[in-house]
Amino acid sequence: MREWLIGQWIFPLHERLRGRNTAACYRALRQTEKLSTDALQALQKDKLRRLMAHCWLHVPFYRDHFKALGVEHSDELGYEVLQHLPILERQDVRIHIDEMLAQPLRNRLIRQTTGGSTGQPLIFFTDLAKESWHNAAKLRGRAWFGIEPGSRQVDFWGSPVELSKQDAFRRFKDYWFLNHMVISALDITDAAQARNASVLKQFRPRLVYGYPTVLFHVALYMERYPEAFGGWRPELVTCTSEVLYPNQREKMLEVFGCPIGNEYGSRDGGHLAHECSAGRMHIAAEHVLLEVDKPAEDGAGDVIVTNLDGYGMPLLRYRLGDRVRLDHETCPCGLTLPTLGQVVGRMTDFIVGFDDRLIHSAALVGVVRDLPNVKQFRIVQYIDLSIEILLVRDTLFSEQELAKVRHKMQVIMGAELPICFSFPDHIPPSKSGKYVTLISEAYAARS
Ligand SMILES: [Zn+2]
Repeated sequence: MREWLIGQWIFPLHERLRGRNTAACYRALRQTEKLSTDALQALQKDKLRRLMAHCWLHVPFYRDHFKALGVEHSDELGYEVLQHLPILERQDVRIHIDEMLAQPLRNRLIRQTTGGSTGQPLIFFTDLAKESWHNAAKLRGRAWFGIEPGSRQVDFWGSPVELSKQDAFRRFKDYWFLNHMVISALDITDAAQARNASVLKQFRPRLVYGYPTVLFHVALYMERYPEAFGGWRPELVTCTSEVLYPNQREKMLEVFGCPIGNEYGSRDGGHLAHECSAGRMHIAAEHVLLEVDKPAEDGAGDVIVTNLDGYGMPLLRYRLGDRVRLDHETCPCGLTLPTLGQVVGRMTDFIVGFDDRLIHSAALVGVVRDLPNVKQFRIVQYIDLSIEILLVRDTLFSEQELAKVRHKMQVIMGAELPICFSFPDHIPPSKSGKYVTLISEAYAARS
């Protein structure tokens, strides 16, 4: 009853009071998720035309680009013109940010930063309409698993920005009026896990949301101390922001005993895709138009995003920094939204080889990820290219295993690269709260 009341009345009202139209966007998205492919493409192209016409009128940066392509009137704008626009790099945003803002919306923009992983955060602006669609698309993904707005939800969140906003009033309001709690993801020591378990036991959320590395550790704790949770189990666990590895998913499935959904998006690009109950990542095609730049033989390439709802600071053909593959198969779940093949990884997840070759993190991470006696790990490359591998091991981890890891790493990276190991008791998260598994100072210095 309380969840229904919140979902139907309090949540929509709360969003309206904050200037967002999330509930209406959510209803609209639920109606378009099963449209025919043609109807969906028509809707996408219509939104694109309106956005480009807005850019022509109000955004000098794009008007100049359109004119350079020979466009003389806004009627000529659309998908054909979009395809000829140069790809927007993060560097372009840094340089041209002022000309990229829509003049009439200037005093209603919201400043945000993103992408701290390269050590160079990017400042950009969003607006309330874009945020409404973004949030609605997130909510829709959860609804595919039967979790409607208003359901009790706990977020394990580590971003200092989000947590500092969690003042007493907001905590009170979120808890009592929105069925929503935020638990710090920054601390995964046993003492913190015990405190978190008692919160979960008492609040009994239906949805748990957060970084896979953190939720994986909640599952490990639950496996060791099931009684601490008093019989509570979530109905859905949704992972975000990091790559969800198969071993993490398997462990969470086993311990939580509920579906594990994966969400893919970014603060600047928008909500890109959400996993369905059949395990496919469906693109939020009403909200974003995705292209793949220079796909390799396996179809994977850099994802290029056009956010169809971002009117304050439009992003047309924006290179996000991830590698993805587009899928062309229909999904048995009944949704007609196109699907994304695997998100291959972030461009920043590379190590620089001795001969300047870039080695993708998946190769290195794969060597240590599935070791049964390693609880946590991190691979760090320093500016001089040397590599340190941090392993939090348990007492069963043997010298033979270490020798195998050393050998495999050396084969991948080449014998010339110095590798050393260290064995801390715990690896703290990065400043953003994410449990980054690979950091390359050498790559960051080059990008
Ligand atoms: Zn599906």
